[in-house]
Amino acid sequence: MGSNSGNKFLVDAANIVFDLVHRKKIKFNIGKYDFAVNNGKKRYNNQELAKRRAGFIKRETLNNLPELLEQFEKNISSRGAEVFWASDVKQVLSKIEEIVKNENVSSVVKSKSMTTEEIDLNEYFETIGVEPYETDLGEFIVQLEGEKPYHIVTPAMHKSKEDIDALFHRKFNTKEGSTPEELTLFVREYLRQKFCTSELGVTGANFLIADTGSIALTENEGNGLLSMSFPKIHIVIAGIEKIIPSINHLGLFWPLLSSLGTGQQITVYNSIISGPKQQNEVDGPEKMYVILLDNGRTNLYAQKELYQALSCIRCGACLNACPIYKNIGGYTYATTYSGPIGSLITPHFKGIKEFKHLSFASSLCGKCSEVCPVKIPIHNLLLENRRISVEKKYSSSIENFIASSSTFVLSNSKLIDFVNGNVKSFILKPLFKKMTDNMKEIPELPKKSFREEWKKIK
Ligand code: SF4
Repeated sequence: MGSNSGNKFLVDAANIVFDLVHRKKIKFNIGKYDFAVNNGKKRYNNQELAKRRAGFIKRETLNNLPELLEQFEKNISSRGAEVFWASDVKQVLSKIEEIVKNENVSSVVKSKSMTTEEIDLNEYFETIGVEPYETDLGEFIVQLEGEKPYHIVTPAMHKSKEDIDALFHRKFNTKEGSTPEELTLFVREYLRQKFCTSELGVTGANFLIADTGSIALTENEGNGLLSMSFPKIHIVIAGIEKIIPSINHLGLFWPLLSSLGTGQQITVYNSIISGPKQQNEVDGPEKMYVILLDNGRTNLYAQKELYQALSCIRCGACLNACPIYKNIGGYTYATTYSGPIGSLITPHFKGIKEFKHLSFASSLCGKCSEVCPVKIPIHNLLLENRRISVEKKYSSSIENFIASSSTFVLSNSKLIDFVNGNVKSFILKPLFKKMTDNMKEIPELPKKSFREEWKKIK
């Protein structure tokens, strides 16, 4: 594979894949998800049509991305929000630091947001002396454990209820053997005080709505709503691809996101926020900042075909469907976005040379593309990533040698037939075994090729 990340990926994958405890937890949690999503699907007369519409709208949106982002900026600014464009992590963090210093912020409540994971926001807050509190239960659990989210929708998917009980007992001395309900109540009380005292709330955005200048926030616990409405300052950090043209499109995207993401008809809390508190309003933050993050997205946007990956609405369905993800789990990818969509976009966000191996971590079965609510042809685009990495000569010399010698041999039928089956087995068997990390063996090859046998029959 070549790169450091690629080598580490292979080692970690080989280790985790035989971890039966890990496998059991993932199987259980994805099994629950599959059951819910199958039921959710039944609520649609024609979910396929809904997906096609959503895919079409997202592609159209990307075709008009600059104009729609400007429309969003104009509309939300007219209601008092400040919009900041950040091209990379450094810019977004320095803007946040400026706000934190100007407003004397000492603690922050955060709702679940993969974009904030992308910029390692919690770690940054700690370096500047600000206490960050994750308020989504799953995020709260992984933060407590000192981990990163395992999955883009269900951050603590790799933990059983027994793991969480033990973690809470260790950290908060809660009663051993507490039920999930008891632990949830504990967290609710713990966080309530943080909501009331934190000066800053940080959220992501599931959608940025151009025609009304709003952000749409979707969550199941109400913590997102509390994070944006209790503190006096609200910062939204969103990737530029989150834009949709109209508020009317939420009628299509919200149910698709929930039915594919969690199997729900609609997520429990859906908020539309159009700026800070207005003069005639009693609730809401006094100041609102919206940071629009590029961080590699325009690299992807500039590429033919691959730009479609920016249609992703982060439902997580492709992760749950992926046979690779189910076996190696979320942490092996060692990236913010894991699974098929992570393998597709990360090489463009963080560099193809270092992360090209992710595009090879796919069986190309196409299940990811099949489940995607916005019809991203994920497995085809992974192939496109592979093509780019070969074109740029990022493959290792051994891979190049195997590819060129295979091309030579396989395009020369006389040469193939010239070599006896026993010799072919002698050459190919150890090679294949090595390629599969000693996991698989190919059977003995027949002495004569199909072509030779066919000639004889005729
Ligand atoms: S690529 Fe499609 S299936 Fe995967 S997370 Fe994004 S929207 Fe969901």
